[in-house]
Amino acid sequence: MNFTQSILIVEDHDFQRRVLARMLSALGARSVLDAANGRAAVALLEDGARPGLVICDLDMPEMDGMAFIRHLGKLLPDVPVIIASALDPALLGSVAKMADAYGVRLIGVLEKPVTRVHLAQLLAASDSSPRRARAAPPVPGFTLAEIEAGIANHEFIPFFQPKVDMKSGAVVGAEALARWKHPTHGIVAPYAFILTLEKANRIDALTFLMLEQAAHATRRLREAGLEVTMSVNLSTTSLADVTLADRVTGIVTGCGTDPKHMVQEITETAAMTALAPALENLSRLRMKGFGLSIDDYGTGFASLAQLARVPYTELKIDQGFITGCGEHPTAQVIVEASLALAHGLKLKAVAEGIETQADWDALKAMGCDLAQGYFIARPMDEAAFLAFCRTYAGGWCVS
Ligand code: C2E
Ligand code: MG
Ligand code: MG
Repeated sequence: MNFTQSILIVEDHDFQRRVLARMLSALGARSVLDAANGRAAVALLEDGARPGLVICDLDMPEMDGMAFIRHLGKLLPDVPVIIASALDPALLGSVAKMADAYGVRLIGVLEKPVTRVHLAQLLAASDSSPRRARAAPPVPGFTLAEIEAGIANHEFIPFFQPKVDMKSGAVVGAEALARWKHPTHGIVAPYAFILTLEKANRIDALTFLMLEQAAHATRRLREAGLEVTMSVNLSTTSLADVTLADRVTGIVTGCGTDPKHMVQEITETAAMTALAPALENLSRLRMKGFGLSIDDYGTGFASLAQLARVPYTELKIDQGFITGCGEHPTAQVIVEASLALAHGLKLKAVAEGIETQADWDALKAMGCDLAQGYFIARPMDEAAFLAFCRTYAGGWCVS
């Protein structure tokens, strides 16, 4: 082992701190700093200590590991952390999520008593693992007026991400995801404009622009021999207007596409304030033949109450439970329960956020119907999607 950076141990137990320091030196650590609790460790960092790695206990007097990770996120967010703890896995899982939310990169958990083999493995991982991309890259701060001007100029286009049947491996559909082809910023992702439009109650123009392009693409793709069903995203804020379903149907049929070849994905991000008009719209969309999908199931307001009152045809399990679910027993239980619920209600279950072969294998073994995620393909423009479908031919994921 040859790592050149110094390591900071944050551990209240004198004996364990000494054992860990000795193991690290034996494994080739250049220098080892130690602190008996979070407060002492923060003081070291504020005095200018710049460790390349932190190994941190959770249960400590004065300032515990959770509070220390919060401080670390502010002081040195790029320094990787290993948690050394004997606490139960569910608690460690929630600490891992917390670290992520504070922007701290957690490399792993070292179970106590610490063994040299496990320590060496984690150190090797810390040497080689690149800094993971943050969930949300910096958002250019667009004003509502700028976004609306972009919509008026038709600068927004759909990118298509394939949805694959997990049994046959065939591409059976796509989700149309909005992208802003910005004249100076290039391709801009939805988080930079959706929320602004929703908050101002001005999302409809984008919804219709996307719907029209997605419906045209569906017709073209089907004419090219691809039997795809196209999913689009519908904001709940749009559902308050009782004319929505008819306008949506008019646009889709006007493009020469049958509503039964389209799915409306709905995420309930806020309590539906106008419940009656929302239910009127959703019932009418279903009656016209659209599929209805409950998006991001398991988060926010995407709840059992919604399932009971809306005629959904599909349940999309939130990617937060899917990515890495094979290694997270809690996520796996939640996914299994969601799949049972979906199948009990005769809905298609979609796993969104399949990033690895392990995710694919785990979801397939659990009986999930459809898969979507970076493991299959990222969202792409229409020409690339068509080319993808042609070359994918049955799929490389089927196992
Ligand atoms: P969503 O509907 O849940 O869409 C899935 C998001 O997950 C997409 O992000 C997609 O690129 C991303 N994704 C897919 N597979 C993976 C994966 O394996 N790993 C990871 N980490 N991410 C994956 P995107 O395109 O940035 O869209 C974000 C959200 O913006 C969408 O979430 C949807 O809620 C909203 N959105 C996108 N287009 C529209 C639109 O036309 N209208 C409305 N109202 N909302 C839209
Ligand atoms: Mg969606
Ligand atoms: Mg989703």
